[in-house]
Amino acid sequence: MATIFSRIINGEIPCHKIAEDSEFFAFLDINPIAAGHTLVVPKQEIDYIFDLNDDLLGRMMAFAKKVAKAQQRAIPCKRIGLTVIGLEVPHAHIHLVPIQKESDIYFGKEKIKVTQEELAQTAENIRSEYK
Ligand code: AMP
Repeated sequence: MATIFSRIINGEIPCHKIAEDSEFFAFLDINPIAAGHTLVVPKQEIDYIFDLNDDLLGRMMAFAKKVAKAQQRAIPCKRIGLTVIGLEVPHAHIHLVPIQKESDIYFGKEKIKVTQEELAQTAENIRSEYK
């Protein structure tokens, strides 16, 4: 059965899309820990990120870098933090999180509260900075 992220990539489930190319897809996390929290996913359905071959993993990081640069331009923050967890969705993904301080990327903390309208506006702001 297709993963939830494949269903998002295929347009069966809505998302706040940021960018895509032939191999990767980026969209806002639906349950963000910080404003602009974005997921980068390979279109190929591979569960564990460290099972990606070296070339694909390298290209995924290069794609994530472009997304991170757009986030940094769109969202006031010091850095874009990057983490991989992957315990919830069995489809490799990188979390890109705008941070001011280390605790902003702590996944055990309470999620921020955002409306669909705010997510849509945030996605638009990041998309407009994506080059
Ligand atoms: P993990 O697999 O532990 O890295 O966590 C999966 C992440 O995917 C969580 O941060 C969820 O909020 C996020 N997520 C799950 N379903 C969706 C969805 N339909 N749209 C956007 N993000 C999602």
